[in-house]
Order: sequence, then C-alpha cells, then structure tokens
Amino acid sequence: MIRPILAYGAPILRQQTRELSRETPGLQQLITDMWQTLDNAAGVGLAAPQIGQPLRIFLADNRDEAEHLRQVFINASILEYGNTFSTEEEGCLSIPGLSVPVTRPDSIIIRYQDADFQTRTATFEGMNARIIQHEYDHVEGRLYLDRLSSLSRTLLRHKLQKVSRGKFRPSYPMQFPLRN
Ligand SMILES: [Zn+2]
Repeated sequence: MIRPILAYGAPILRQQTRELSRETPGLQQLITDMWQTLDNAAGVGLAAPQIGQPLRIFLADNRDEAEHLRQVFINASILEYGNTFSTEEEGCLSIPGLSVPVTRPDSIIIRYQDADFQTRTATFEGMNARIIQHEYDHVEGRLYLDRLSSLSRTLLRHKLQKVSRGKFRPSYPMQFPLRN
C-alpha cells in the first residue's frame, strides 16, 4: 500500500525512533509499503518517520548502474565516517520543491540488520554513502537542512513555510502539517 509522505513541519520527522526486532508487529508489511511508497515517488531513499512510523528503518535505492543499491537498513549505526568531503545537491521527499547543496563525508562504515535480521557491516562510498547518510539522519530525527549554514536556513525559511502549507504538490501522495 502506498502511504502518504509527511511534509516538512510534521513533528514526527523530529522525534526519537525505536529499534525493531524480528517480532515487531507488521514489520514485513511496513517494508512492503515503504518500497511501494518509495517506488511510486521515484525517490532514492525513504525512512519510516516519513510515513509516520517512529522506527529505525530506512531504504536506499540507487538505480545508477555502476553503484546499484537496493537495500533495507534496520537498526543501523554509522561506525565511521571518511575524512574527505563532497558537496552535492540533495532533495528530500518530505521537502518537495527544494534542492540544496549539502556537504557530507564521502564514505561511511555502517552496521545494520537486513530484511532477514542478519547483522552486516559494510562500507559505502559516493552517492550510496550520501543516500544512506541522508536516510540515517531521518531515523536520528534530523533533516539535511540541519547541515546547512544558519544563513542558508534563514534564506530558506519562507520557502519551507510554503512546503509545510502544501504549496508544492509533487506527483506522490503527501500530508502537509500546516494545510488549512
Ligand atoms: Zn529525506
């Protein structure tokens, strides 16, 4: 089932998230719904808080041939960040109509559980490292906006108000916290 994506301003995007276990009720359905929601929105990543679930699970989907990645990350923890950085434009399904340069480490080492609850440790680089860091931010209650300078954030404030009010309508279903 495709779920509506919550827009910037929804309190759950800033909440603490809970760890999952094999026994978490509805887990397989949640994963199925998250993939359907992500595919429908043609995004590269989606985290559970974006569909209203305060849980430590996110998806990454990089269709690039050289870097192909389609993976569920459960209870992830970034163990190490590389010491070189890049700046690339980032967007977010919860912040439609906005794309902003964000500086992040080029590589990460992450420990996580896959969809079968097998614990894995892996290194990711480039676009995959960026997507994973963006989604990891979501399960930590952060947004890429938090990584911008305070000046950039001030300049974006008016536009972000419009996002919360539903002025930017993407092609996928959304819920806007300030719509009235
Ligand atoms: Zn996002």
